[in-house]
Amino acid sequence: MSIKTRFAPSPTGYLHVGGARTALFSWLYARKHGGKFVLRIEDTDLERSTQESVNAILEGMTWLGLEYDEGPFYQTHRFDRYKEIIRQLLDQGDAYYCRCSKEELEAMREQQMANKEKPRYNGKCRDANHEESENAVIRFRNPTDGEVVIDDLIKGRIVVSNKELDDLIIARADGTPTYNLTVLVDDMDMGVNYVIRGDDHINNTPRQINILKALGAELPRYAHVPMILGPDGARLSKRHGAVSVMQYRNDGYLPEALLNYLVRLGWSHGNQEIFSVDEMIELFELDDVNVSASTFNNEKLLWLNHQYIMNSDPAHVAHHLSWHMGELGIDPTQGPELIDVVKAQRERSKTLVEMATSSRYFYQDFGDYDEKAAKKNFKQGADEVLQVLLDKFSAEPEWDGERLHQLVLETAEQLELGLGKVAQPLRVAVSGTAVSPPIDVTLALLGRKKTLARMERAINFIKDKKG
Ligand code: GLU
Repeated sequence: MSIKTRFAPSPTGYLHVGGARTALFSWLYARKHGGKFVLRIEDTDLERSTQESVNAILEGMTWLGLEYDEGPFYQTHRFDRYKEIIRQLLDQGDAYYCRCSKEELEAMREQQMANKEKPRYNGKCRDANHEESENAVIRFRNPTDGEVVIDDLIKGRIVVSNKELDDLIIARADGTPTYNLTVLVDDMDMGVNYVIRGDDHINNTPRQINILKALGAELPRYAHVPMILGPDGARLSKRHGAVSVMQYRNDGYLPEALLNYLVRLGWSHGNQEIFSVDEMIELFELDDVNVSASTFNNEKLLWLNHQYIMNSDPAHVAHHLSWHMGELGIDPTQGPELIDVVKAQRERSKTLVEMATSSRYFYQDFGDYDEKAAKKNFKQGADEVLQVLLDKFSAEPEWDGERLHQLVLETAEQLELGLGKVAQPLRVAVSGTAVSPPIDVTLALLGRKKTLARMERAINFIKDKKG
């Protein structure tokens, strides 16, 4: 049997990490089994769905590389089909019109609460044979006997008695179908046979199964993925910080690092922490997904990001870095090759934002010197040291980092100064700060023109201070 999974977000906000993890699990499962992965936009809630959010979801999926084989399908394009199914259920006697008013339902609820019963629809209109009318909703006639058994691939066997379930509304008074109906019609029509979704839907599953049975459809297998919690134990939300996938891009994460983090959130394979996407596909098993919720840990994600920045192909990192350069208004053509910058900066950059920010001086002149760095390194006499270096550097026919480093060492010896007294003023002069890659690398990346001009600027700055 060929496997088909899907991701079915409601476009009512950005793509958040919880949704992305569900999408990843579904995608991995399809890829592992040579199956298909469907993207379906569940946009029937016309008030809350926005085009902006659809775009954010598509953008997030693309950035993560979770390519879909079918879709995106939009539920709003399928209203005729839902109507047809609702008609079929009515004709079969598996659905009925309900005229209970809001007030009646509210009174029913209050009464049940007062009796300490679970609030549920009491079936008043079930056998009333109402015709279609204004304000009438349509309910599914849930079986009253027997039970629904779900052999959940993550949670194990779940048994729910039909006595626990009431008659669900499948169409609102305005005729629009509800989520519980559209989702199962789509899964059925699209041939989705593995429904991998958040366990916040677990209460809907037995109801959806009953409707599928009434339609004579084959049942999909279900896998309900546990929630993600914030560090305080509450369900992960905005107040815990970034939760939107694109925010992680903006904050300088590599998509592979986020994928790696998400796959490990509730899934494990021995003690292994780092998984390439190919390894994830090979090793992922629903059986190994934790039954209980997992806690989001930003520190660990940051650590993973650093690992990916250090160990990925520098050309790949450079590709993502160039986006951040653009965001910071840096033109990558006005300085060294980005690949070389990646190689020089990756050890000390946990995010690409850090890398881009700390590489700005390779491309643009900086404004003021870092105050502390200038105070410490631009003391009296530093201008003379820089002048000696400047003369030597200017006389070099080739601009070679190693050779320039040699000249720094020579100068320290010649002037009988510690290396720090020579290299540090030079570093501050060319970068504006006291931290940069090793001096040979820094000077090579910066090139002759920028280096010499900045040394001159520093010499004048120190002289001016004296005067
Ligand atoms: N559209 C639903 C949601 O965003 C998901 C439905 C499902 O996965 O079955 O929560």
